[in-house]
Amino acid sequence: MTKDYYIYNTLTRNKELFKSVNPGMVGLYVCGPTVYGEPHLGHARPGITYDVLVRWLRYLGYKVRYVRNITDVGHLEHDADEGEDKITKKARLESLEPMEVAQTYTLAYHEAMRKLNVAPPSIEPRASGHIIEQIQLVQTILDKGFAYISNGSVYFDTQAYDAKFHYGLLSGRNLDDTRENTRELDGQSDKRSPFDFALWKKASPEHIMKWPSPWSEGFPGWHLECSAMSEKYLGEVFDIHGGGMDLCFPHHECELAQNTVSRGQGGVRYWMHNNMITINGQKMGKSLGNFITLNEFFTGSNPHLDQAYSPMTIRFFILQAHYRSTVDFSNDALKAAEKGLKRLLQAVRDVDAITFSSGEGVNAELKKDYDGVFDSLCDDLNTPVALSFIYDAVRLLNQAKDHQITLHSADRILLDELLRKIVPDVLGLVDESTESGSESIVGGLMDMILEIRKEAKAKKDWTTSDLIRDRLKDVGIQVKDTKDGVEWSR
Ligand code: ZN
Repeated sequence: MTKDYYIYNTLTRNKELFKSVNPGMVGLYVCGPTVYGEPHLGHARPGITYDVLVRWLRYLGYKVRYVRNITDVGHLEHDADEGEDKITKKARLESLEPMEVAQTYTLAYHEAMRKLNVAPPSIEPRASGHIIEQIQLVQTILDKGFAYISNGSVYFDTQAYDAKFHYGLLSGRNLDDTRENTRELDGQSDKRSPFDFALWKKASPEHIMKWPSPWSEGFPGWHLECSAMSEKYLGEVFDIHGGGMDLCFPHHECELAQNTVSRGQGGVRYWMHNNMITINGQKMGKSLGNFITLNEFFTGSNPHLDQAYSPMTIRFFILQAHYRSTVDFSNDALKAAEKGLKRLLQAVRDVDAITFSSGEGVNAELKKDYDGVFDSLCDDLNTPVALSFIYDAVRLLNQAKDHQITLHSADRILLDELLRKIVPDVLGLVDESTESGSESIVGGLMDMILEIRKEAKAKKDWTTSDLIRDRLKDVGIQVKDTKDGVEWSR
């Protein structure tokens, strides 16, 4: 074990650091959602954080295999492995099949991610589709002597593990210290120690999602799926394992222990944890009454919101903080982000509005901004610092637009790279109104409609020309007659 397990990685332009066990391929595994409810802010942050990481690595020339799982079985309500299965509970409450619940919220999650411009992972495995791999893994851990069978369930033996390795390495915990602060087990439990966690749970008769196994008809423990699926798709050792800070303990700690037993090593070169999101300084939670789904943000339909916030505003807002810092959502902060994003996207368009004079000279400040963006993204994906350099470049661009300074054609190359490559392709910040070329279609249709209106006016057919104007107004398009012809705007 090395201290790598405690520290966060510092990305670097030196490709040696990412020399992967799979040559030329960076393996990234991120714990995806447990699909039993509407996607919310808690889903947006890891979605966006690891999306930017993948985009940045690909921009730098790495091949990335990005695996993000869907948890559709085995995530229980209490401490992840006690109580009712979250998906089964939702299915019971809504009289649905558990897989219907999983499907509904997987689709909702995909749709929310698409709106946030989060690219899909390379592989999106489901826990329920990897039961055989998980049973094999339980058997391996049993065979190596780090698990025990109790009433048809199989538990990981943290005492045995801690005696040989160190349980708590990732989260900086110590089994002895933690023990004092933990409630003793009530007599009901099959576990030998409160820290032991389920690898396989025997299903109660009313439990719907269950599979046959050598130990009982049951289902896998939640922590198991990520160990099984990461090995299957990324190999015994892979580069980066990501997820929310709340998953560090117990989920990732348990994964690390499982890997250490089955693979003979932790299996992960760097652990990366994104921090949490708060709302007006409070943790977000259904019980606290401040739970806001992503769709409610996009439509403004929640009493905590003054207005709707576009997916890009949410994305931009999240990137304004470093992924390891907390982010506090408030209406004021989101409105400021909305303004900042607008200014940035205006600058992206304005590159064309500037006359760049010929010549070799490069503006020294702009070069500093360009290097700063690279260095900060390479330094542990520091998006807020990268954005501050981009805004400094925007300031220079605006000065050039106002003829306060002169930029040269070499500067244009830097501005194009920053504003038209890194902003949309790496940070994923795009103009939502021009999404997927719809703008050019609208433009073509408008040319046609205004042509028809012009012909109507030429024939003094005021009824038709006014009808066109009024109907366009109904869909939010203003038509203005000027001395040069017709202008339209949204
Ligand atoms: Zn996981």
